[in-house]
Amino acid sequence: MIITKQKEFKEILKHLEKEGKIFLLGCGECSTTCKTGGEEDVKKIKEALEKEGKIVAGYCVPSAPCIAAKVKLELAKNRKAIESSDAILVLACGLGIQSVKDNLRAERRVHVGCDTLFMGAIDSSGSFFEKCSACGDCVLESTGLICPITRCPKSLLNGPCGGQNKGKCEVDKDKDCAWILIYNELKKQNRLDLFRILKPPKDHSKSTRPRQLTLK
Ligand code: SF4
Ligand code: SF4
Repeated sequence: MIITKQKEFKEILKHLEKEGKIFLLGCGECSTTCKTGGEEDVKKIKEALEKEGKIVAGYCVPSAPCIAAKVKLELAKNRKAIESSDAILVLACGLGIQSVKDNLRAERRVHVGCDTLFMGAIDSSGSFFEKCSACGDCVLESTGLICPITRCPKSLLNGPCGGQNKGKCEVDKDKDCAWILIYNELKKQNRLDLFRILKPPKDHSKSTRPRQLTLK
């Protein structure tokens, strides 16, 4: 899931200072779960904008499989409302925002309503945690399925630094040291042999940006 955070309303308002009539576009998937671009969130922004004297021409909240894939269809369905607007405010991740720009036929300005934070998973209490940084060269097989690239602030590949203290990370003492977690997990699995194998430096050519994958 792509984790987003809605921008402060005063920042959104600043983006929209030259726009009178606005179309809102949310996201029925990740941004709904993050409470940044679901139907309720879009309605709240609509009300807040109207209080500030803006006209909201309409809104849509594309869903499955992903706003990025559905956006073309949704833009076509809402063509009239979009064409009657000065601009579109997108309450979705950076991918969704750019998809709107790329698929928009009408010459309308597109504004950013959310900050995109990371790829994450949700726990039972509703908190989001970053678990994978999409490094393109996965090492989870040998780390007990705990990602050291993401969960260790130094992205160390071969065990803990000298700073870990009683299992806590020296960079953030509230967090467990990723490498102590990995050690404990491998020990539990009786796979400490994996801990002793030296990993070569990561092949960063696999994550040169912008990345692209073409299916053959
Ligand atoms: S090593 Fe970590 S960052 Fe890289 S692909 Fe695997 S889980 Fe993602
Ligand atoms: S204490 Fe552990 S998690 Fe923190 S930087 Fe060092 S190795 Fe990484």
